[in-house]
Amino acid sequence: MEITHIEHIGIAVKSIEEQLPYYEGVLGLKCYNIETVEDQKVKTAFFKIGQTKIELLEPTSEESTIAKFIEKRGEGIHHIAYATTDVNEALKEVEAKGVRLIDQQARAGAEGLRIAFLHPKTTGSVLTELCEHPE
Ligand code: ZN
Repeated sequence: MEITHIEHIGIAVKSIEEQLPYYEGVLGLKCYNIETVEDQKVKTAFFKIGQTKIELLEPTSEESTIAKFIEKRGEGIHHIAYATTDVNEALKEVEAKGVRLIDQQARAGAEGLRIAFLHPKTTGSVLTELCEHPE
């Protein structure tokens, strides 16, 4: 597996709108996309810094894993996402090395990416996402 860069850092927030003054007004970043991922019950907002993004994650339902995360740990960094060239191949490789998978196969994520999560229990407590840009 080859990791090319950090694709994004996911940050759990109660309200994207309430955080915009910080990201846009203070940091001077521009939110270029807001998108709801229905099956994740989450609304996402993206900012680009070089080829890396900040992804704000706002729960759209109490059932959302983001809602549960905020309830348990408060707002803050939720996951790190590495860009790789072939997520399914990478999943096989890390699983063979003893990493527990949350997703057995790549699935559709925000922005048309193919994504899969690794279990934090086997990644030093960091929820880890692998992403692949569609070609
Ligand atoms: Zn993500």
